Amino acid sequence: MSVRIGLEIHVQLNTLRTKLFCSTPSDYHDKPPNTLVCPVCLGMPGTLPVVNRRAIEAAIMVALALNCEIAPRILFVRKHYFYPDLPKNYQISQYDGPGMFPYARKGWLRISAGGRTKIVRIRRINIEEDPGKLTYPTGSMLTSPYSLVDYNRSGMPLLEIVTEPDMESPQEARAFVEKLIAVLDYLGVCDHRKEGAFRVDANVSIEGGARVEIKNIGSAKDVERALEFEIARQRSVVASGGKVRRETRHWDPVRKVTVPIRIKEVEEDYRYFPDPDLPPIDVPRSWIEEIAEKMPELPDQRIERFVKQYGIDEYRAAVLVLNKRLADLFEECAKMYRDYKKLADWLITDFLRWVKDLGIDLESKKVEPIAIVKLLRTLDEGRISIRMAKELLPKVIAENLDVEEYIKRTGMEKISDVETLKRVIEEVFRENPKAVKDALKNKKAVNFLVGAVMRKTRGRADPQLTVKLIEEKLREIAREI
Ligand SMILES: [Zn+2]
Repeated sequence: MSVRIGLEIHVQLNTLRTKLFCSTPSDYHDKPPNTLVCPVCLGMPGTLPVVNRRAIEAAIMVALALNCEIAPRILFVRKHYFYPDLPKNYQISQYDGPGMFPYARKGWLRISAGGRTKIVRIRRINIEEDPGKLTYPTGSMLTSPYSLVDYNRSGMPLLEIVTEPDMESPQEARAFVEKLIAVLDYLGVCDHRKEGAFRVDANVSIEGGARVEIKNIGSAKDVERALEFEIARQRSVVASGGKVRRETRHWDPVRKVTVPIRIKEVEEDYRYFPDPDLPPIDVPRSWIEEIAEKMPELPDQRIERFVKQYGIDEYRAAVLVLNKRLADLFEECAKMYRDYKKLADWLITDFLRWVKDLGIDLESKKVEPIAIVKLLRTLDEGRISIRMAKELLPKVIAENLDVEEYIKRTGMEKISDVETLKRVIEEVFRENPKAVKDALKNKKAVNFLVGAVMRKTRGRADPQLTVKLIEEKLREIAREI
């Protein structure tokens, strides 16, 4: 059954110093309510908005990174609706309609999902102001006797990025969101970890049926989950002979279900018209070129460079690059450690798993490249076993453990001394006469003896040498019998 998914993503440009139309500081997260406001972002009568040029530059950067055509003029319009978080009763936005147009359109982004690479087209990008935020004393809109409004967010620069319905599975939608987050991260225009910085609405239909919109999904993983649920729900409606209704649903991340919020019969009429307070901004070619020159390296370019420079395959390169901090760590380690493939493998498997398990945020926690390099070097030199290396890795990540120093201090070094190992094997043979008997008949039973040696040495015995010595000893016994 065919599935079509389109995404509408709101991205807050929250790394700028000020809001979109006033000089009020924009770092409102964790600030007391209604402390970062001014007459402009409170929509007081008689005030006039003035465009933040840096916000426009950031928006153009995003459009260039998403391969969009950029309009020669930026035209702001008023989108009218009443809601308590919108003090002017209109939002300064952009619109694709007669005499009006978005600042960017017809772009694309390459994604990889399920081993397949594809292009997702971007229909358009709008730049607009964020409304304020409503909060509910009991935490829920349904049970609170009243609501509170915080205008700190009011007037924050916001991009609305709308894709064509090119995604055919929840995995592809998630891959798109992850790739977009990476692009924004490389551009440095959005810290997606901040609350409300990144909001996704997803449209989904099956078999050409009615389109259902799921509102306000907060993370890439939840985009996948919400769509999986919604597709299953629509399929069961169709399977039981029903018809999917066109409606808007809400994703409940706690119960992991979508719930209906309203039935959409017609498009709302927002009575858009050009904002007379804001003259159109000309965007000459020369300005776009100037911005293009300042653009940092983007994920796709970095993947390509990793493949060329380090000789690793595209899959590994992509996993590293999608997480900028991880890719930076890889490059710092690569200056000191030449087995790039091995380095990449450690970072994208065991390292990432531990980072997740330990709940470490690579953005705020610095993992020292030298600590990783020392772990791999001592492993290469045969001074620790692979099992020991894996055991030490969480300490390397969490405490930047110096592995060289640690194995010297604790005497944890791998045992590859023949005499020492022979003594341990002697003991193991004495303590396990039945296992020795089995091993003489059955080669597979040797593993038990190897395991016993490993346990006795707490994993420090050189595994290959241990197997060799045990086999020698068994041959000796066989000759004696
Ligand atoms: Zn303001």
